[in-house]
Amino acid sequence: MADELLLLNPGPVPVTDPVLEAMAEPMVSHRSTDFEAVYERAQNGLDYVFTRSTLDGESTSAGGTSLLLNGTATMGMEAAVANLVGPGDEVVALANGKFGRRFSRIAERYATVRTVEAEWGQSFDLDAVREAITVDTDLVTMVHNETSTGLLNPVAAVGELAAAHDARFVVDGVTSLGGDEFRIDDWHVDVAITDAQKALAAPPGISAMYVSDRVASELDGSRAPFYADLERHLAKADDHQTPFTSAVPLFRAMAVAVEEIVDEGMPTRIARHRRQAAAFRAAFDAMGLEPFPDPAGPTARSNTVTAISLPDAVRDNHTAFFDAVRERNVAISGGQAHLAGRIFRVSNMGNLSGEQVLRGVNAIGESFRDVGVDVDLDAAVDAAETELGS
Ligand code: PLP
Repeated sequence: MADELLLLNPGPVPVTDPVLEAMAEPMVSHRSTDFEAVYERAQNGLDYVFTRSTLDGESTSAGGTSLLLNGTATMGMEAAVANLVGPGDEVVALANGKFGRRFSRIAERYATVRTVEAEWGQSFDLDAVREAITVDTDLVTMVHNETSTGLLNPVAAVGELAAAHDARFVVDGVTSLGGDEFRIDDWHVDVAITDAQKALAAPPGISAMYVSDRVASELDGSRAPFYADLERHLAKADDHQTPFTSAVPLFRAMAVAVEEIVDEGMPTRIARHRRQAAAFRAAFDAMGLEPFPDPAGPTARSNTVTAISLPDAVRDNHTAFFDAVRERNVAISGGQAHLAGRIFRVSNMGNLSGEQVLRGVNAIGESFRDVGVDVDLDAAVDAAETELGS
């Protein structure tokens, strides 16, 4: 029998059996104490992820609230912006990929936006960011781990600039939280957002947000979309409920998924993600492939999503390459927007084992051979095993 489908696309990622089983339990009312207990379990686990995503497991927040949203992280991004700024306010949005650009487009609906752009896959020029953030800036938005390019952006440096000008700082931690380091107060993050189906390894459909106590009183839900009024969400979160009907099975699955993260412990989980990303990077290097992102200064390659340039020989025939990977029952992703046909992306978010990483390396290496690229697969597997410590 063929190996089961291995999801190495950057979300949704594989979920464990207990997470799947949680979704099959009988329904309860979202206004019942049974549901409140589920919400509270999810909240406790999310508090842990949002505030203790460090290598020493120490708390990084003086206080804040984790809440769950009935919608994916794009809803959270919009909610954060819409509750913090309105007409006449100024937002500085950093964009060096699809999701940074999305943040900027969201902000344009609510306020005046100055976008600091870098080419997709390139580092931001911190001098340009420094110039853009002024005393008039009300809010700064950025993406920590740019999934579209596999780049880890310098949240700490930008947070310092935002704080120096008393601007609020909203960070998309969608593909870092639960897999890599994230420091709320040290990085001056006022609101952090993540999705269920990424490094939290829960099913897609809902998202989570951390609202630091620093900004809770500044939220103005009356100017946000009715469904995304964070004042109402925060008030309800205190009662372990959502303002509107909750996606009960997804909340249950989230509760189990974050409890599994607590069991593993963030320090161990971060180290594992770093090892596995290093294994993918080393394997692709050994295959003679070129990384797509081009980090500099405090910017780095991602520890959760690896983006690799497709060799010239494959670009014109990239469908055959992706088909060959799919035939091996492995799911990876291509490039988004103008990067379609230029790159491929592999995720190591969630609960992957070392064997699954090696299966991905083998499937990708064999698929390159299928389309005529002569990669050294033995060297790639050796390199990956060395990084995995296996
Ligand atoms: N931000 C980043 C960095 C992402 O990778 C994603 C999803 O891939 C999102 C935000 C949110 O996307 P969605 O709302 O479609 O889940």
